[in-house]
Amino acid sequence: MLSIIQYPHPTLRHKAKPLRRVDAELQTIVREMFALMYKAKGVGLAATQVDLPYRLFVVNLLSDPTHPEEEQVFLNPVLTKPHGLDTAEEGCLSLPGLYGDVKRPERITIDAYNLTGEHIQGEVSGLMARVVQHETDHLDGVLFIDRISPTRKLAAKDDLYEFETIFAGQRERGELPGDTAILARLQELEKQRC
Ligand code: ZN
Repeated sequence: MLSIIQYPHPTLRHKAKPLRRVDAELQTIVREMFALMYKAKGVGLAATQVDLPYRLFVVNLLSDPTHPEEEQVFLNPVLTKPHGLDTAEEGCLSLPGLYGDVKRPERITIDAYNLTGEHIQGEVSGLMARVVQHETDHLDGVLFIDRISPTRKLAAKDDLYEFETIFAGQRERGELPGDTAILARLQELEKQRC
């Protein structure tokens, strides 16, 4: 059973590894990721947000399970050819309730594989460009709070502290493993599929 982890869980800072194998279990993982994303009303979800070390994310810009034709799965994404700049407000399922303006290229080319192993490539713009950049950031251990202005970050200090306090409480109660155990598990999963 997967669940969405929240800041400052260390897996959110882990650099995910390219996938070498797509097996039945990975297909199940992807279905679970979509289900979690819909439940949280998000438009994108990266594997590191469900405590998995794979370069994989899922997107449905409508965030609507009755529109499965809008579902997209990206494995081993590579972003190139950024064009333009656009500022828009972002949020994150790993930092629920926190929002901030982030400046990103307005258009970008994405190269990736889908779940059936087909190579997909294309230029994306608008919301799709923003989402693929936000999610690819996750695979590199980067969060949108790393890209907000210093003033906004200062204003978010209390919110971040609250997330940190909740996390420390979960650790104290033994609800979450320690950093070493978390890393060992990620490395074990990487050995199997990366
Ligand atoms: Zn996010």
